[in-house]
Amino acid sequence: DTITLKNIASHCKEYGFIYPSSEIYDGLGATYDYGPYGSELKNNIKEYWWKAMVRMNENIVGIDAAIFMHPTTWKASGHVDAFNDPLIDNKDSKKRYRADVLIEEQIAKIEGKIAKEVNKATKRFGDAFDKDQFVATNPRVIKYTEQIADIESRMKSAIEAGDLEALKQLIVDLDIADPVSGSRNWTDVRQFNLMFSTELGSVAGEAGKIYLRPETAQGIFVNYLNVQKTSRMRLPFGIAQIGKAFRNEIIARQFIFRMREFEQMEMQFFIKPGTEMEWYDHWKNQRIKWHKALGLGEENYRFHDHLNLAHYANAACDIEFNFPMGFKELEGIHSRTDFDLSAHEKHSGKKLQFFDNEMNESYVPYVLETSIGLDRMFLAVMSAAYTEEKLEDGSERTVLKIPPALAPVKVAVLPLVNKDGLPEKAEEIMKAVKLDFNAQYDAKDAIGKRYRRQDAIGTPYCVTVDHQTLEDNTVTIRERDSMAQQRVSVPELIATLDDKVNI
Ligand code: ATP
Repeated sequence: DTITLKNIASHCKEYGFIYPSSEIYDGLGATYDYGPYGSELKNNIKEYWWKAMVRMNENIVGIDAAIFMHPTTWKASGHVDAFNDPLIDNKDSKKRYRADVLIEEQIAKIEGKIAKEVNKATKRFGDAFDKDQFVATNPRVIKYTEQIADIESRMKSAIEAGDLEALKQLIVDLDIADPVSGSRNWTDVRQFNLMFSTELGSVAGEAGKIYLRPETAQGIFVNYLNVQKTSRMRLPFGIAQIGKAFRNEIIARQFIFRMREFEQMEMQFFIKPGTEMEWYDHWKNQRIKWHKALGLGEENYRFHDHLNLAHYANAACDIEFNFPMGFKELEGIHSRTDFDLSAHEKHSGKKLQFFDNEMNESYVPYVLETSIGLDRMFLAVMSAAYTEEKLEDGSERTVLKIPPALAPVKVAVLPLVNKDGLPEKAEEIMKAVKLDFNAQYDAKDAIGKRYRRQDAIGTPYCVTVDHQTLEDNTVTIRERDSMAQQRVSVPELIATLDDKVNI
């Protein structure tokens, strides 16, 4: 059976990964709370990213900027003016959508048709099949590709011109139906701002209005000179940050894929103008390698190059992941030019330049950005890990095949039975392993049931203490995915586990 987002959401709730926010009050739209295992997994994902970015690159340093920023920040970034999203309501279902997202979903459908043609041809021609040539020459695929290019160019020019009628016309021409009701009875397209606002201190009204940041990037840009000077960096260098961002999203119904409060892991890499394509390729490569090294399945990733560029970018792509609802954006890689730093120079009146000794001149650096949603990464891990298995003896198990480095609990220590001195011995082992790993002790219920519980939270190793342990000081280690058991001596235990679970 295919796994759905619903399966994953209910497993996450049942096993303490994620709960709807304020559930006793029936929840709050598109807001979720991470439970005990969820927060462990989330922390491990952060650490895995932070290590790859900050520890492994001598020219990348981290910061932790405030969520509140001076309101002019959002004028400079373009969020106050240009980022007003075009919205359309369906008159029958009363649902509200982002017009550009509706159109992009239509593009994704056509992309799906292309993928189908390619798959069919691959089956027909086997190894000898040249995909690029097929895509370039097959009349049906050419027609689809032209359709996509046409839609993208119409959408781009409508958005750039702020022409809401043209966007509405595109929705009509593409015969887009409301995904909920199937109705085509739409209102006009209107602009809407995704930023949450509040008031600073006692200053009421427009003067005191501040925003919850809709992206973490701006905290990095406004600190660019502070960080460059205090960490004595020279170009090229990067600043990394993990933190919350807030967007009053309109379509928010895909579990943690699109939330109103979420976390981003962003890195802005400051470079010499003119070198951006080189660095764009570099970071595309680095980031896809990072993903693939995790072992969630290489076939689950693909790049999606943007033809339709945001106003701040001169090249951009997404790394898409194969979520239960199909391939969707997980991470964005953007060549942002000097758009942000120049805009902050203009609005603040402060120079944000770098003095290049070799060139003997100052310039505003260009920026290459990698931006990944922590919660989306969490969902990617869950989507790849969640498995329902039928075992040889006819029984079933639900197992989370989370990469051991990310697993919330690394090892469970289980006395085979809750008597005969086994619990005492197991507790002694627990005391030793918990210094090195997040470990869990469990003595309740039959051993099979306890294995299933650990499978369901993705614990990669179970250490079982039995009567033989008392005689020769050995235990069995059961591996989650294969369920294979191996006997090791207690003194060897930590080294054996260490090899397997560390980031
Ligand atoms: P989308 O097109 O899906 O709205 P975006 O292109 O607006 O995303 P960016 O502004 O590039 O996203 O943000 C970078 C990353 O932040 C995205 O790749 C995604 O992983 C994450 N992200 C953005 N919006 C949300 C959200 N509402 N909930 C969870 N994660 C998000």
